[in-house]
Amino acid sequence: MSNKSLTRRQFAAATVIVPLSAVFASREAAAQANLPKLDLNDPVAKALMYTHNAQTIDKGKVPNFKPGSNCLNCVQIQGAKAEWMGCTAFPGKLVSAQGWCSAWAPKPA
Ligand code: SF4
Repeated sequence: MSNKSLTRRQFAAATVIVPLSAVFASREAAAQANLPKLDLNDPVAKALMYTHNAQTIDKGKVPNFKPGSNCLNCVQIQGAKAEWMGCTAFPGKLVSAQGWCSAWAPKPA
């Protein structure tokens, strides 16, 4: 086997692997897009003081809220960056990227 044929095989493998990864990523995004948005009346959402918009939080009523924190910069957010994303605290639901709840923890730097 020559280096040239090995290179061709590597190229062939790459042409298959790269599109497959794109397919899986798009399937994950499509599956995520089909999930319902978290209902503000969900008991867990209420217990964790979830809101769709962190900017509406009354800092006097939510002392552990850190200005600038939101779902997008929370360690529990999942999936590709989008307006609505998955969250480990609310499996099977989508949370707003601009949302917030008291389970917020910063993403590692
Ligand atoms: S755990 Fe994080 S990502 Fe999930 S709702 Fe709360 S703040 Fe948003």
